[in-house]
Order: sequence, then C-alpha cells, then structure tokens
Amino acid sequence: MCGIFGAYSPDSFVAEEVYLGLAALQHRGQESAGVAWIDGGRRINSIKGMGLVHEALSQSVLAKTPAKAAIGHVRYSTAGASMLQNAQPICANYAKGPVAIAHNGNLTNFEELRATLENRGAIFQSTSDTEAILQLLAHQPRRSPFDALLRALAEVRGAYCLVVLLEEGLVAARDPWGFRPLALGKRGDNYYVASESCAFSLLGASFVRDIEPGEVVLINSDGVTSHTLPITSARKWFCSFEYVYFARPDSVLLGRSVYRARHEMGKRLAISEGVDADFVAAFPDSGTNAALGYAEQAGIPFEAAVVRNRYVGRTFIQPTQKVRELGVRIKLSPCPELFRDRASVLVDDSIVRGTTAGLVISMIRECRSRALHLRISSPPVRYPCFYGIDTPSSGDLAAAKYSLDDITRTVGADSLRYLSREDMINAIGLPPDSLCTACFDGNYLGDDGKCVTSKGACGGEIFD
Ligand code: 5GP
Ligand code: SF4
Ligand code: MG
Repeated sequence: MCGIFGAYSPDSFVAEEVYLGLAALQHRGQESAGVAWIDGGRRINSIKGMGLVHEALSQSVLAKTPAKAAIGHVRYSTAGASMLQNAQPICANYAKGPVAIAHNGNLTNFEELRATLENRGAIFQSTSDTEAILQLLAHQPRRSPFDALLRALAEVRGAYCLVVLLEEGLVAARDPWGFRPLALGKRGDNYYVASESCAFSLLGASFVRDIEPGEVVLINSDGVTSHTLPITSARKWFCSFEYVYFARPDSVLLGRSVYRARHEMGKRLAISEGVDADFVAAFPDSGTNAALGYAEQAGIPFEAAVVRNRYVGRTFIQPTQKVRELGVRIKLSPCPELFRDRASVLVDDSIVRGTTAGLVISMIRECRSRALHLRISSPPVRYPCFYGIDTPSSGDLAAAKYSLDDITRTVGADSLRYLSREDMINAIGLPPDSLCTACFDGNYLGDDGKCVTSKGACGGEIFD
C-alpha cells in the first residue's frame, strides 16, 4: 500500500505541490517519500528519503525546483524491507529519454516477468516489482516512451495505479481490474493525479473524475488524452479494505464517501450485532467513524473513551511482536473514569493479528470495567492480500487460526462480533462484483484472469 501523486502545469512550477499532495496522502505510507522531475538537461532528477514526508523531503528545496511536471510517492511500511533502495519514484535515463515511475499496488506475475526479462539480459537493481514495468518499457527502444509504456502494461497482471513521468508528459494509469483508487483533479490549467481525492483540497484543486480501470491518461500541453489498455476485465476488483481502513474518511472513492461507508458499516453492525451497553467507544482513529454510526443506530452515547497519542504513527506493521505491542501501548490508552463500573461497546475497523484489541482490552480491564463487547466493522480477515496491502500470511491472522470463541477469550472481551460480508458490501454501496473481498473470503483474481477461490477456480471468467 502506498500513495502516489502527480502534477502538471503549462506555466508554473509544481514540485512543491507534489510535496503537499504527498503530505495529504501520508496515511497511505510512512516508510519513505520521494519526488521526481525532468530537469533542463532532459535528465531525471529526484529527492528521496526515509520517514515521513517532512522528514524525507525538503519543502524549501522543492519550492525552488523549476519543474512543470513532477510525480511523488509515499511508501507503506513493510516488515524488514525498510531501506532507501525501495523508496520511489524509481528513475532511469534510457535510450529514449528520462523516465520515473511511482506505483501503488502489487504485480502478481512479477516473478515470471523478471525471469523473462533476465533471460533477455535485463539486470534488476532492486527487488521491487515496479522495476519490471521500467525494464519492459526500456526493452522497446524503437517505440516512443509512451507507446512502450502501453505495451509494457499489457504484460503485467495484478494491482497497479501508476504515475509516470516521460518527456511526452505526465501519465496516470490504472490496472484493468481497478484494485486501487486513482483520481484526476484540476485547478485552472493545472492537472493533478492522486491516490485519493483528499489530496486535492489542500491545493485548492477540484476533483474531476476517477481514472477508470484499464485507462491510461496522458497530460501535457495538448491537455488530457485518454487511452485504453488492450486488456480489459468485465469483473472489477476495487479493494473493499480501502473503505474499511485504508483511505482517509474525507476521500470519495468511486463516488462513495469513505466516511459515509464507515458510518453505515457501524449502523449495520448495531442492527445485526447490537448489545446492551452504557456507551459506545472506538479504537481511534480507525474505528471512530463506524463507532459513531453504531452509536447513532443503537441510540447509545458515543464517548471518546480511548485516547490516541497524536504523535505516534500507525503501529500495525512493525518488525517484531514486542515492538508492535509497545507501539499500541504508547498509542492508545483508556480513560479509567469512563470505563469504571460501566458496560461498553468497543468498535474497531478490523482484527488482523489481534494485538490492538488484546492490549487495549487488558488496559480497560484494569479500570474495573463492568462489561466489554467488541464489535468489528468488517468481516474476519482470514486470507492474505496479494494486491498491495501487507497483511501477514494466514499463519499470523487471528481469524485464520482460531475460532470466534478462542479470539474472544484471547482478547479478553465479553463478546465479539463482526460485520457480515453482505453488510459490508451494502454499506459501501457498490455492486458486489465490482469489489475485491479476497482477504475476507479467499476469492482471488487468478493470473489467467479468472476468479480463483481458496477452494479452486470459481469459474467466473473476468476477461471480456
Ligand atoms: P491487529 O492489532 O489486530 O493486528 O490489527 C488491527 C488494527 O490494525 C486495527 O486497529 C486496524 O485499524 C489496523 N490495521 C488493519 N489492517 C491494517 C493494515 O493493513 N495496515 C495498518 N497499518 N494497519 C492496519
Ligand atoms: Fe483489498 Fe483485501 Fe482485496 Fe487486498 S485482498 S485488495 S486488502 S480487499
Ligand atoms: Mg486501528
């Protein structure tokens, strides 16, 4: 999971705007940040660094950078692989000119592509799947960079949203299955491309539309031209977890407000799994919108009874369990007065390993709480994601290993219930066959373009 941003202007410099756009997308990745542009000598230039946008990049340097087109990337933290070589955009100057690519997603046929390319003499500089796209492009020296990019994308499978910088202009591309979000924005004659629409407001730009699955957009002095990839898919696979957890609540994805989807998930949870309690609380921030929906539906007050330390980032993927646990303890802490002798419903968006719920509930127990009911605004996460979210393998997923009763006991709740898959989909409000729900139900997109379930091929042909 990552955040990508691109900007093009016919008459002003945009590198600082890319910096600001990345800051608005910071929730999508905190491991590293980078910005790339083409300099006056027709060479690719970039600044990349580890950490948050303001730590990794210098706003004042970017403000002085004379680039009318630029792209940027924030990278999501993954266990063990925290190093500068993995920071994006990945950049190269090849036979046909400069190129920079920033990628959100995960290619599922990377190993095959890499083997084929290495047999043709390619030398990979990193272990990143994004480099395969660059290599496929560079292996077509007789085509223009943009045509070569279109051909390269016809070869790759899996999840990608890309912003690419070529001499021909700024390019934005979304895979034919539409796993990840990508939006087009505009302010005057300037164009912007962002993983989420929330990045436009900071720049005073307005949302124009989503980039469509299978669409490749070229932005330059001719304006915006739209191209279609030669492969299409009737069945779309937009990531339902974007609505559950990943995206920012003020973003609108595929016409659906993330805030409203989460609020509705909470309401449906109260209808299907309601329980008597004095008040509703959330695990902030990820559970807050659903908890508000739950409270509204149940007619029980919402109390901000679990406090979040604002100065700690996302704790989910830290290399060891001990560090993760310490992270949760520093990040979340209950108000003892609110829990003492009272019954509460605690709402979170998801249980992955069970670390957050177990630790927070044990802290609440120390407050001599009367009863604690845990409600989760998504279905149990039972399967890993191969499309760009770094969920652990099944061996680490609580719901893949243990029964509902065992998890309830382990986290120390009096009861535990999840939202059903149907309620989650209805709360999002998009047709079921336009969403990926693989981490909940094991229905994956096969490399041959068929839908594959954990039990075998489900027969759903997804190529037109
Ligand atoms: P657990 O503590 O059960 O392992 O993870 C659940 C918590 O992590 C929830 O509060 C949820 O908001 C958050 N979470 C769920 N999935 C992800 C993810 O893919 N990345 C990050 N950073 N956090 C996640
Ligand atoms: Fe999103 Fe889950 Fe599908 Fe991954 S498997 S793309 S997290 S819905
Ligand atoms: Mg959380």
